[in-house]
Amino acid sequence: MRTCTGSCHCGAIRFEIVSDFPELTTCDCSICRRKNALMVRVHQSQFTFLAGEESLTAYQFHTHTATHYFCKVCGIYPFHRKRVTPEFYGINVFCLDGFDPAGIPVRATVGAGMS
Ligand SMILES: [Zn+2]
Repeated sequence: MRTCTGSCHCGAIRFEIVSDFPELTTCDCSICRRKNALMVRVHQSQFTFLAGEESLTAYQFHTHTATHYFCKVCGIYPFHRKRVTPEFYGINVFCLDGFDPAGIPVRATVGAGMS
């Protein structure tokens, strides 16, 4: 297991995750396509919010179960809560400090067809 810190672009939002990074995922749903994010899934017990809760703003659509967070200062999406498994976060790996995704398998998940 590896501990990684991450932040949005302006640094208002800071968080830490613990993962062994077995795989990364992309998603083809209407919002992920626009974000073009590469994500890692972590359980909420492996996610720690360090700073900036007041700078987070949330966007919900469709079933309003998944919550897509972004920084209201710089607009970066650092993570979201998942719809099917809301106790899990999807983390934008490009927000992690010094993270290199090379060599980690990437799985394309299908969100576009979800009703
Ligand atoms: Zn920010």
